[in-house]
Amino acid sequence: MYDTKSFISELEKRNPAQPEFIQAAGEVVSNVIDVVNDNPIYIKNKILERITEPDRVISFKVEWEDDNHEVQVNKGYRVQFNNALGPYKGGLRFHSSVTLGSLKFLGFEQIFKNSLTGLPMGGGKGGSDFSPRGRSEGEILRFCRAFMTELYKYIGPDTDVPAGDIGVGAREIGYLYGQYKKIMTENTGVLTGKTLGWGGSLIRPEATGFGTMYFADEMLSYAGDSLKGKRIAVSGFGNVAWGAVLKASELGAKVVTISGPDGYVLDEEGISTPEKAAFMLQLRASNNDIVRPYAEKFRCQFVPGKKPWEVPVDMAFPCAIQNELDLEDARQLVSNGCRYVVETSNMGVSAAAMDYLIENRIHLAPGKAANAGGVAVSGLEMSQNAQHLYWTREEVDSRLKHIMKEIHASCLREGMEDDGYVNYVKGANIAGFKKVADAMCQQGY
Ligand code: GLU
Repeated sequence: MYDTKSFISELEKRNPAQPEFIQAAGEVVSNVIDVVNDNPIYIKNKILERITEPDRVISFKVEWEDDNHEVQVNKGYRVQFNNALGPYKGGLRFHSSVTLGSLKFLGFEQIFKNSLTGLPMGGGKGGSDFSPRGRSEGEILRFCRAFMTELYKYIGPDTDVPAGDIGVGAREIGYLYGQYKKIMTENTGVLTGKTLGWGGSLIRPEATGFGTMYFADEMLSYAGDSLKGKRIAVSGFGNVAWGAVLKASELGAKVVTISGPDGYVLDEEGISTPEKAAFMLQLRASNNDIVRPYAEKFRCQFVPGKKPWEVPVDMAFPCAIQNELDLEDARQLVSNGCRYVVETSNMGVSAAAMDYLIENRIHLAPGKAANAGGVAVSGLEMSQNAQHLYWTREEVDSRLKHIMKEIHASCLREGMEDDGYVNYVKGANIAGFKKVADAMCQQGY
């Protein structure tokens, strides 16, 4: 019989100084512990021990030259966590906060997220402590080339298929793909998030944001509610926030905030015009990592140094980075009448905030369910690449919608509590876990 506390304290001893990984593992293990204890086959196959240890961790040095002809050295990683369901799949994050521990948390989350999509994808993650912030185009190109010159050895369309994440968008994927192609002389679906016209899929750029709104739509309609007229706080201003803003206004909701490391923008009129959404993309492309120019351009309020969770809203969508919504924020949101929190960033809600929201019976969607639309459309991009053809926008969108609906149904199936409250966090963890655990049992150690 397993006990969460002793399992996690053992895991912590074996993985010192990786608090985010321990947080992510603690959440999953505490949710699946009863399922494991009730299934002798999972115990016999040591699933918990095996699923919390990555198959492989690759660490490499990235050397490149900046615009002053100075040599720069960064760390590069790829964590190949689990391939029971398919090739390792997951993004690359280029951000100053990247450490091996943070990539292990992301790779671990990716296992269950990818499982929830129902597509044949294992879990992995990679990245670097390189930050594109303040870097020129030339520097980003040279960094990407140097990164791929190491990474290419370990990836392949049937082995491991990286994509974007924070700091890695279509531009970076283009440079990375260009270098892979130069070394390997092959055009394959080795990366997703490619640009349309050379293997990319329609809807991939919007997919995470669209998916999270489709999931929210399901959640609301199950609760007898609707997105129409909802006032929403979004954090971040990158690709994920952009997709969420676009779909929210299409479905009749009003997003009033976006944010950056410099503070948040409060746009009472709603971030709802194509011009406003397009400006978010310009901000990201500028490499400055600040959101203030939005407020200057559209003449609305900018609140420096603060997070958007102090604004009274009906729904909150953290779309930036892990642990961006903490206990204090959760308390403030609830006391302001917010009833829905849709975690769109990976582990955007801290463990204490999550407990508080669940205790208060707030409808809380975990990232691994709500943000799975991104990797789901990556999976669809892989299918299109394997068939050497493109699907229409309608085809991709309807598949994405269907996948998000199915994920919602899985959460309901596994997360319903006695009082009728849907514990989406628990539901997602159990549903995602079972498929991987079964595959691991069937494939042997
Ligand atoms: N980085 C995204 C995620 O966290 C997408 C991964 C992918 O498309 O492989 O799921």
